[in-house]
Order: sequence, then structure tokens, then C-alpha cells
Amino acid sequence: MRRYDYDLFTIGAGSGGVRASRLAGSYGARVAVAEERHLGGTCVNLGCVPKKLFVYASHFREDFADAAGYGWSVGASTFDWPTLVAQKDQEIARLGRIYERVLGNAGVDVIDGRAVVVDPHTVEVAGRRITAERILVATGGWPEVPEIPGAELAFTSNQAFHLPTLPRRVAVIGGGYIAVEFAGIFHGLGAAACLLYRGHCFLRGFDDDLRDFLAGEMRAKGVDLRFDAPVRSIEREGEALRVSYGEGQSVVVDGVMMATGRRPNTRGLGLAEIGVALSERGAVIVDEEARSSVPSVFAIGDVTDRLALTPVAIAEGAAFAAGQFAGKPMRVDLSQVPTAVFSQPPLASVGLSEHDARRRHGAVDVYEATFRPMKHTLSGRAERTMMKLVVDPSSDQVVGAHMVGADAPEIIQSLAVALRCGATKAQFDATLALHPTAAEEFVTMRTKRARTEADRQL
Ligand code: FAD
Repeated sequence: MRRYDYDLFTIGAGSGGVRASRLAGSYGARVAVAEERHLGGTCVNLGCVPKKLFVYASHFREDFADAAGYGWSVGASTFDWPTLVAQKDQEIARLGRIYERVLGNAGVDVIDGRAVVVDPHTVEVAGRRITAERILVATGGWPEVPEIPGAELAFTSNQAFHLPTLPRRVAVIGGGYIAVEFAGIFHGLGAAACLLYRGHCFLRGFDDDLRDFLAGEMRAKGVDLRFDAPVRSIEREGEALRVSYGEGQSVVVDGVMMATGRRPNTRGLGLAEIGVALSERGAVIVDEEARSSVPSVFAIGDVTDRLALTPVAIAEGAAFAAGQFAGKPMRVDLSQVPTAVFSQPPLASVGLSEHDARRRHGAVDVYEATFRPMKHTLSGRAERTMMKLVVDPSSDQVVGAHMVGADAPEIIQSLAVALRCGATKAQFDATLALHPTAAEEFVTMRTKRARTEADRQL
């Protein structure tokens, strides 16, 4: 008789949990996965996918205006929020059915409901106790809302994709990528969007030149960016909301979005009770094999609070399944992970920012270009593009590639291959340009930026 009901019980059918469960199933393991909300998790239902669809939707306003410079008369256009929400929901439902099929094909049992851990080999879900040799925690993250008066009047990204109406005026609180993306979405869809961030400039951790450049571009489009603006309270004012920040300043809006970070989703899961070590923020602490301090309990994805990105969760899920069920231990290398902010214009990066490169390599060479993209010569739009390469002069290796401008995420994804292969600046220079593109600038930048004071001090 088998000792456990399953070889693997996964809690959470998001990006990481689905990949791990499906691969473990394909390697012959007996697998069940519990999901309390929707198959596919955050990325598919309340993250990357609906967000990107909303970014597309919000860009049409500029596209219609830009068309005039090319001879098109577009005429009056109107936007209907409920149509966008319904269209997006239909696409997400389609993706949900694919997830269901994929799990079914791999022989994975899907259990609807919230699972909690009872002991190192037992979970409780939907009124049943189920045992498994290994338990995989893949419960993702959850929006973190600061404790300020009136915080309950705000919505988070969890609700943003289903607002009954598009607010006419919106304040987005936060300085991370979700805040920046939503400020752009609301603005593009026609709302007056204001972003309030307590720090000096949004997108901490990205290259400073790009952060400043993007802030300038967003302001030029009319997004009201207010930095050094710690929010104190939100109050009702008739039908509207007053958001107070800083020393007595405020802004009156019709909706407030709180995009103030995400926390590992471990509350009430029973992990601490069975001895699983958690970080101060509640993340499951794991080793290179994704194993927690309890040997039969593993964790992957956002719940481990490392790099909260879908491809990372997927890679960790795949590595876990290969290591535990196919005898092929794998390590996920979290260096040089390309990332994007689907702002307008978008920003994307791979490798080190100039600041981090200096800390690691000492003095660095920087190549920069800012220009008006060809498309806007006729559209008349003032939007500019910025590109930047950071090079370690001792090895000539390109250690960072950064861009703000149309298609930046698509371009940086390809450059990530070059950086992963350790490409040098000489190899970038030896690569022929593909003309006429914006991306060709990455292989034609020849002039080093003059060394700065920071370099001279090294
Ligand atoms: P999740 O996908 O969050 O899945 C966890 C699942 O576990 C959820 O379905 C949840 O319902 C379920 N669950 C939790 N607790 C239980 C329980 N006790 N029992 C049963 N089920 C449970 N990443 C990118 O790479 N690119 C992007 O452009 C991007 N955009 C984003 C935009 C937004 C607005 C947000 C919020 C996130 C975005 N992300 C993006 C991040 C990305 O969504 C996450 O990194 C990814 O979903 C993490 O996968 P995961 O498997 O760790 O967790």
C-alpha cells in the first residue's frame, strides 16, 4: 500500500505551481494541486496578461492622433470601459480552460479550495485531509496596503481589472512597476492620472538615467507625477476622494489605486506552526533545491520573495520538478533576468544598472543615445527614445543594456541572449545593423560618455 495519497501536493495553481505540477505529472508522479481562486494565478488573471491587454487598449488614443501625420483621418473616437473588461475576461477564460486541459493531460488532480498545511505531509482542503510525500508551496504574493486612515477606500491591482466604471480622475499611490504601468493605463484611457510616490523618483533599482528619462516622458504626456509625496490619508469628499500627502498637500480624485508593493502569501497557511522558517516579510526561506527548513516542504515563485516575475516562478517550478521527480537537479540562475515596465513609453533592462555595475566592477564605460524615433518624424509627437549600454572596461563585457522607448521589452529580450553569452562591446560593434530600426542603435553606439566624477573617485 502506498504511504501517501500523492507524491506531490501543490498549493496554488499560478505560474510556478502549474509548471511544477504538470512537469512532475509528466515525469510519472502522482500530483494534486489546490487552487482557491483561478487556475493560472496572478499572471493570467490579475497580473501580466490583463495588464498588457489594458496597455494595448490605452495606447490607441495616441495611435489615432499619430495617424493624422500619415494622412489618415480617424474621426471622433470613444472608449467603452465595460467592453474592454468583458473582452479581457473572455480571453482570460480561454486561457483558464487551457490551464485546465494542460493539467488534466498531465494527470494532475485539480482541487478547488483553500489548502492549509496540517503537518509536514498533510494538507487540508475542501473539508478533506490529504497526504503527500512532498508539499510545494506556490501561493504567490498579495497586495500590501499601508495602514493609513482611509486605506479601505482605495482599490488594489486585484480590483483594478474589474472596476465597474473608469474613474474620471485617479490617484495611483506607489513607485513600483505596477503603479507606473497603471498610471499610464488610466491616462491613456482618458482619465486624469496622478501618481504619488514617497521617494525621490519611481522605479527604484532600475538605472537612474532611465528612471529620470521615463519620468520626463510621462510628464510630457500629461501624467501628473508627484515624488517625495508620502500619502497620509484618504477621505471621502462628497462623491470624490481627497488624498492628503506630504506637508498639507492634497489631490481630489474619483478613484485611488494602492500599488504599494506585494507580500508573500503565507498568512494562515499553517507553515510556521509546522516549523517552516519564514522571513520577516513572511516569505518561505528555501535552499537552492527550493526546500524549506522542513525537508518535505518546498516553495517556489513569489512566495519566496526573490524576483517576483512570472518567468522566474516558471523556471523555479521546472527546476523543482526536474530535481525531485526526474533525478535532474537544476539551479535557476537569477542573474541577468530581463525585466520590463510596460509604461508608456515602455522601459526594459537586462543586467546591471550603471550604479550597480560601478559597485561591482569599479569604473565602467557608458554608451548612451537619445533620439526621436523615426515614426514620430511624421506623427509630430515629441516622444523620445533612450538607450544605454554599460560595459566593464577590464573585460569589455556588456554588463547592462537598458532602454526606454517603443518596443523596448521586445528588443531587450533579444539582447538578454547576448548578455547571457557574455557578449563584449567589440562583438556588439561587429554586429551589423538592421536598418531602419531603433534597435540598431545598440550596435552603432561608438562614443563613450565622458567619465563622471563618480568614476574618477574610484
Ligand atoms: P501566483 O501566480 O500568484 O499564483 C499563486 C496562486 O496560489 C494563486 O492562484 C492563488 O489564488 C493561489 N493560492 C494562494 N494561497 C492558496 C491556498 N492557501 N490554497 C489554494 N490556493 C492558494 N510578472 C512578469 O513577469 N511580467 C509582468 O508583466 C507582470 N505584471 C504583473 C502585473 C501585476 C498587476 C501583478 C500583480 C503581477 C505582475 N507580475 C508580472 C508578477 C507575476 O504575476 C508573478 O510573479 C507570478 O504570477 C508569480 O507566480 P507564482 O506561481 O509565484 O504565484
